Amino acid sequence: MNYYSLHHKSPNTTFKNAVVEGLAKDRGIYFPENITPLSKDFIDNISDYSNHEIAFEAIKQFVGDEIPTDILKEIIAETVSFDFPVVKVDDNIATLELFHGPTMAFKDVGAKFMAKCLEYFNKDNDNEVTVLVATSGDTGGAVANGFLSAKGVNVVILYPSGKVSDIQEKQLTTLGKNITALEVDGVFDDCQDMVKTAFLDEDIERTLTSANSINVARWLPQMFYFFFAYKELHKQHKDLIFSVPSGNFGNICAGIMAQKLGLPIKHFIASTNVNDTVPNYLVDGVYSPKPSKATISNAMDVGNPSNFIRIRELFNNDLELLKSAFSSYSFSDDETRATMKKIYENSGYVADPHGAVGFLGLKKHGLKENEFGVFLETAHPVKFLDVVEETLPVKVEIPEQIKKVINNTKVALKAATYEDLKAYLMK
Ligand SMILES: *Cc1c(COP(=O)(O)O)cnc(C)c1O
Repeated sequence: MNYYSLHHKSPNTTFKNAVVEGLAKDRGIYFPENITPLSKDFIDNISDYSNHEIAFEAIKQFVGDEIPTDILKEIIAETVSFDFPVVKVDDNIATLELFHGPTMAFKDVGAKFMAKCLEYFNKDNDNEVTVLVATSGDTGGAVANGFLSAKGVNVVILYPSGKVSDIQEKQLTTLGKNITALEVDGVFDDCQDMVKTAFLDEDIERTLTSANSINVARWLPQMFYFFFAYKELHKQHKDLIFSVPSGNFGNICAGIMAQKLGLPIKHFIASTNVNDTVPNYLVDGVYSPKPSKATISNAMDVGNPSNFIRIRELFNNDLELLKSAFSSYSFSDDETRATMKKIYENSGYVADPHGAVGFLGLKKHGLKENEFGVFLETAHPVKFLDVVEETLPVKVEIPEQIKKVINNTKVALKAATYEDLKAYLMK
């Protein structure tokens, strides 16, 4: 499968190059040349297939013949190695829990898939690839875990000092081996700027790539969740509506890709916190990115969502067409906290702030008689322990995955300016 840059100034390229480069030379993100719907027979009989078989069907055309079938199947088995339960929280609403992976965030799937693809593509190459990633919290842990011990791949994670939770910091600073954490004296935007500068710096001779959802190998496997939820729900419920807590809009864009592959999803809701660039765009057709604002659902504090351009492409850049299948609503932290309480009082379910924003999206949109709403739970409540325990009368039990890292010793290099990062990368 070939990919083109959404800035249309770089030549089309292979899946392999799109994964290794991350971003095209013209700074555009990659998009597949073709999207061929899966057979109706497969979709109708989805319950007869295992999650591994479903994932293979969904992804194979996007990889093409660039990874042999048996290896792609192994990669999928390593990636889809935990459950994705659907839990009912209301008569016509359920949540799809995406947090049962090793770092308890949905990004585990994309990070592992990308790491394995990169390892495969780099197996005969003496030059190591360096994955450079800036994180506001969740991405770092998932990438550190997903890429741990990947041969021929080094990972450098930049995170803002004092701005990630203790658990998140442990997840990204304690693994060692090919994972290096850089603790940046600044905020997330500073980390992101340092990464962007490094990508453009011609003095750096290392092969650099990114592990954010702009990378096709991190973005596309997120389609799997929507297939798994459909498999679970399609027999009882007719019209499925998904609400996806959105920051960079990679996850929801993968859902729309699944719909393009023929999965019968009636409508998508991108639920955001007060970082409302997309909800505003749907109202007045003017896309005006802004600096991000800090919220309690901080994995979604994004002012200029990098995947939204892919969503526009999927709807031929036609705003009316987009609005017929896609809505987006913004919610404040107060509304989010009140909703966490309401969900807990009604059903006993402990939602994290991101999931609560997803639930709010369904409520605001409203569900008709035949419709069933699914909101994605993108992180385990333990990852936002302070907010959850302040808001709800609960004590969150620390899961095994977290216990494993919590007592490990943090190892991080300090970086104050871009020159510190550069010095490290020039070594
Ligand atoms: C990354 C993340 C999101 C946002 O996902 P996007 O694909 O960037 O829209 C939502 N919730 C959590 C917990 C996350 O870690």
